[in-house]
Amino acid sequence: MAKLILNRLSKSFGDGKPAVDDVSVTIREGGFLALLGPSGCGKTTVLRMIAGFEQPTDGAILLGERVLADAGSMVPPERRNMAMVFQSYALWPHMTVAENAGYPLKVRGISGERYRRKVADALATVRLESYAERRPSELSGGQRQRVALARCLVTEPDVVLLDEPLANLDRHLRQEMEETFREFHAMSGATMVYVTHDQSEAMALATDVAVMSEGKLLQIAPPAELYARPEGKLVGGLVGQGAILSVSLPDNAPRSMEWSQLQQVFTETDSTSAIGDILVRPQDVIHDADGIPCRVATILYEGERYALRLTLPDGQVLRAYSREPAAIGSLFPVVIRSAWRL
Ligand code: ADP
Ligand code: MG
Repeated sequence: MAKLILNRLSKSFGDGKPAVDDVSVTIREGGFLALLGPSGCGKTTVLRMIAGFEQPTDGAILLGERVLADAGSMVPPERRNMAMVFQSYALWPHMTVAENAGYPLKVRGISGERYRRKVADALATVRLESYAERRPSELSGGQRQRVALARCLVTEPDVVLLDEPLANLDRHLRQEMEETFREFHAMSGATMVYVTHDQSEAMALATDVAVMSEGKLLQIAPPAELYARPEGKLVGGLVGQGAILSVSLPDNAPRSMEWSQLQQVFTETDSTSAIGDILVRPQDVIHDADGIPCRVATILYEGERYALRLTLPDGQVLRAYSREPAAIGSLFPVVIRSAWRL
């Protein structure tokens, strides 16, 4: 095993804009990378190039020192020791759980004790030992997904590629499956690349998140860093809750701004300063009688708290949380404890 390297990877299907445009990512051995971005941004194309189903137009894919693909050469998918889990996890309905999980071994001519041990190990990893003799129709959606994971584990792949594996499941089951994926990653030791358009899924699962838009890589960072220090409006708007405000900023404005600096921004409108964007998280917006005079635009009860949309004096919208309800249209002055310049 070794690290997986995407080096200036590009893919064009025709004359138009490339589907993947100059993407460079290094995933350490045993790492868990999420590829996050809206539908159509090129995530599946990246995954298919890693798997060997598409050839790069430019750039290269390496596993350690070994070149898996570039514009002139291709190692075929079956010689990459990778496994791919698709959104629809197509199990054979006439086979048992154990037979489904063991299918890739049968194809490779593995049988006997070795076969039985590998299948048992794979089923144990996804906690399906006691379901070995059931058929897919006798399983829940989450259990079927676990069979698909066992089937992919059974060949002991170096790299596991997952393309929106939870997209078809309901929310409750998705949360349960997120746990399974974390365990699965820890127990298999495989390097994983997980494609999703769901930012909370990406943040919950991965050790690193790569954000893509229109074929380009915008930022790659561990989840907490992506949340705290997003680069640019697209990433800032995609990751976590928050409001992006357009404000006039002094030339020397730091990236991370506190109330003492923000107070000036909201009280003095200096026509000489440049317009910039700041990201304000709702938990940093505090109700304070001496703060900016906002008004309540909408209020939503979330169980533990109320989520408010506030209108600033200039009409821009800010998000805040409150323990107490507030009337729509009422005055709700706030202090912004901290903000991040995008
Ligand atoms: P995502 O998985 O992020 O939704 P895709 O990688 O599937 O995005 O697609 C990225 C872009 O490439 C889209 O514009 C899509 O239409 C295009 N594309 C993907 N596969 C093909 C193909 N085989 N032929 C032509 N265009 C394709
Ligand atoms: Mg896709």
